[in-house]
Amino acid sequence: MSITETTPKEEKASGLQHTTILIIGGGAAGMAAAVAARRSAERSGKACSITLLERNPSTGTKIRISGGGKCNVTHQGRPEELLEKGFIRINEQRFLRHAFYGFSNSDLLELLHARGVETEVRADGKIFPLSGDASSVAIAFEELLRDSSVQHCFSCRVKSVERKDELFLVKASCASFTADIVIVATGGVSYSQTGTIGDGLAIARAFGHSLKDSSAALAPVFTIKPPPASLSGIALRSVGVVAQVGRRNAERRADLLFTHRGFSGPAALSLSRDIAEILKECGNCELFADLFPEHSPAELEGLLLQQTRKHGAQMVRKFLQFCPIAPQHGAFGEPLNGTIPTALVPFIMRHAALQDDVTWSTLLKEKRQSLLRVLKRFPLGFVRDVPLNQGEVSAGGVSLGEVNPKTMQSRIVPNLYLCGELLDYAGEIGGFNLQAAFSTGWIAGLNAGG
Ligand SMILES: Cc1cc2nc3c(=O)[nH]c(=O)nc-3n(C[C@H](O)[C@H](O)[C@H](O)COP(=O)(O)OP(=O)(O)OC[C@H]3O[C@@H](n4cnc5c(N)ncnc54)[C@H](O)[C@@H]3O)c2cc1C
Repeated sequence: MSITETTPKEEKASGLQHTTILIIGGGAAGMAAAVAARRSAERSGKACSITLLERNPSTGTKIRISGGGKCNVTHQGRPEELLEKGFIRINEQRFLRHAFYGFSNSDLLELLHARGVETEVRADGKIFPLSGDASSVAIAFEELLRDSSVQHCFSCRVKSVERKDELFLVKASCASFTADIVIVATGGVSYSQTGTIGDGLAIARAFGHSLKDSSAALAPVFTIKPPPASLSGIALRSVGVVAQVGRRNAERRADLLFTHRGFSGPAALSLSRDIAEILKECGNCELFADLFPEHSPAELEGLLLQQTRKHGAQMVRKFLQFCPIAPQHGAFGEPLNGTIPTALVPFIMRHAALQDDVTWSTLLKEKRQSLLRVLKRFPLGFVRDVPLNQGEVSAGGVSLGEVNPKTMQSRIVPNLYLCGELLDYAGEIGGFNLQAAFSTGWIAGLNAGG
């Protein structure tokens, strides 16, 4: 679609107070910004033209593939709960607070419900469209754009943005534009096949913004020595996972999945940002799994001794095959998280240097302690890579300190707004990233239009 190119100067000359807002990027943040800008302009009685430029042939490319095509669009709870659950780093929680209150999960759901997108809340708090179809969310926003008279230009890549007098001069592959206000919503740098290759970062840098280096987040973790083929596809439920080198470490408690190249699943995805940082800073990073995260070593040793007293003739290997994994604090009770996967048992035996047929009564003290060490710190190997492009999001981006969290306006360039994954935050799995993009985009649009 081509757009009418009237410059604000021409309109000002005709006596009409007119603001031209140009939004770069038609993902969650850009679309929310466009809709909010229109609402805010209407409320304040401003004449305003809003144009969205998107390098893809349509908007919402990432929304459509999110949540495995089902789109985990947000999370249940109060804004404060979402911030705490979704953003581990305190500075990011602080930065996003205003946006999460200004455009909350309820506000987002209200918009979607009004467009006929019914949603369901899963037991873990994740919220999805009831239809199980991610594109319903993208379509709802496309309709909102249409109803908000947002002009758009698709397959149009913005190449540069310059400040000329009071205006921005935007050069794109389809045309050149002038604008009073520019909102940059170009996303992160992972999944580059969806159009996110860091153009917005270059624009922000050219305006003097400092950038935190981009790195992977919510990405799989590849190890130097891939896990044995017999473990590929196996999940360890609710275990502790530790990434460590020297005294630098990070840990999570969640499900861990063995893959043919390393690890995935919630624990690995959540830890991947820390792992990428450790790898970059220290040059290496080793991973361990704690199969009894609720038990201290002393408590676990007590339980192993109890086994020895009560079931001396039992083979340790047999015990491990039926042993609950990550059981609750106290005695081995119900296997709420299942049992230690059978395929893992030979590796536990091998790492603890136990004979295959050893029983509790023939297990020497030093071997029992070695078993204890392996159960608390099962070695998963050294990390080779955390592939940036495979991250569901990328960490890093425009420094949060240079953007006003109440408006998303640049603290360096007036009338330049920055929002969405372009900013230096990265949320956990659970709908937090889309909510952050919608919230920061909405706040940017609201302030740009009003
Ligand atoms: C596979 C996958 C699954 C995911 N699942 C979920 C999920 O279920 N829940 C969740 O909360 N999050 C999920 N995410 C993360 C979430 O999708 C993103 O954090 C969110 O979409 C970011 O929104 P954004 O608007 O900031 O950026 P994007 O959605 O990336 O949009 C940026 C847009 O800008 C355009 N653009 C870039 N450069 C230019 C340019 N120079 N000119 C014009 N246009 C440009 C891009 O083409 C793109 O369309 C997932 C991500 C991936 C990759």
